[in-house]
Order: sequence, then C-alpha cells, then structure tokens
Amino acid sequence: MRIGYGWDSHEFKSGVPLKIGGVTLDHPKGLGGHSDGDVLLHAITDALLGAVAAPDIGTLFSPSDPKWKGADSAVFLQEALKRVGVAGFQIENVDSTLILAAPKIGPHTANIRARVAELLQIRPDRIGIKAKTPEGIGTENAAIAHAIVLVETASSKPRRKRPKSTRR
Ligand SMILES: [Zn+2]
Repeated sequence: MRIGYGWDSHEFKSGVPLKIGGVTLDHPKGLGGHSDGDVLLHAITDALLGAVAAPDIGTLFSPSDPKWKGADSAVFLQEALKRVGVAGFQIENVDSTLILAAPKIGPHTANIRARVAELLQIRPDRIGIKAKTPEGIGTENAAIAHAIVLVETASSKPRRKRPKSTRR
C-alpha cells in the first residue's frame, strides 16, 4: 500500500460562489483562484497524485493555462483518480481536515462526503471530512485543507465489492 498527502489554501473573495468538496455552499464570499477554488478537492487531488508519485496539481493543471480558468475541480480529481488506477492502485480511504472561520461546515459534512464519494467511486464511509476554525493562526480570510489518502494495489483484493454509489 501507499500513502499520499495534500495541502491547499485559497483566499476568500467576494462575487464568486463558495465550492468545497464539489458542493456549492451558501456564503457571501467564495474562494479565489484560477479554477473554481475548491480547496478540499485540490488537497485530495494532490494526495492522490502524491500516493503514486505523479506530478502535482499545479504541474498538471497550470494556473497560467487559460484552459483551466474557472474549471470545475472535479476534473482535476478525476484525472488524479485515473492516474491512481493506471498505476495499479485503488483507494482504501481518504481523510481530510478543513480550517476556515466561516461558514460552519458541520451541517454540510454529509453532502460533501457524498459528493466526494461519488467523484472517487468509493463508499462515503471511507471518507473523513473534519473542520476546524483557525484559532490563533491569523488565517480568517482563507480556507485551508489537508488531505491524506491510503491506496493499495488493485490486485490485492480482486473480488472487492463494487461501491454502493455506482449501483443506482
Ligand atoms: Zn487550490
């Protein structure tokens, strides 16, 4: 098995929607950035890429490339997932921590977990979503995300059950 770690931060900015974990949250400010600013998906993407020693998100999807302006970060996550599969691995679980002053993430955790599970094609009970406020670190105008992922060789569990989320 392999482990991967990712970290990201974005500054809050007026006039853009707030997207976290592929879910749009009702908030007066969103996260600035070249893409949709989805700090959580970016951290998970880098964790997946790191697990298989692939180039990082900024190398694969350069912020200077106009192609990624306003891009849906789900595209980045799915490319990382594809690379994990090509390298012969599958995701065992993902854990993450968000650090932001507002909005409160608790009421949205289930939605975020369901959306990330859908994007990663794994069960929601394999995804940890935790949130904290930035006590004493002076990052009130930013959202920070840490993510860690465990992957294992796909051949180690040849008869793994299909995730529930794909059985519609
Ligand atoms: Zn980012």
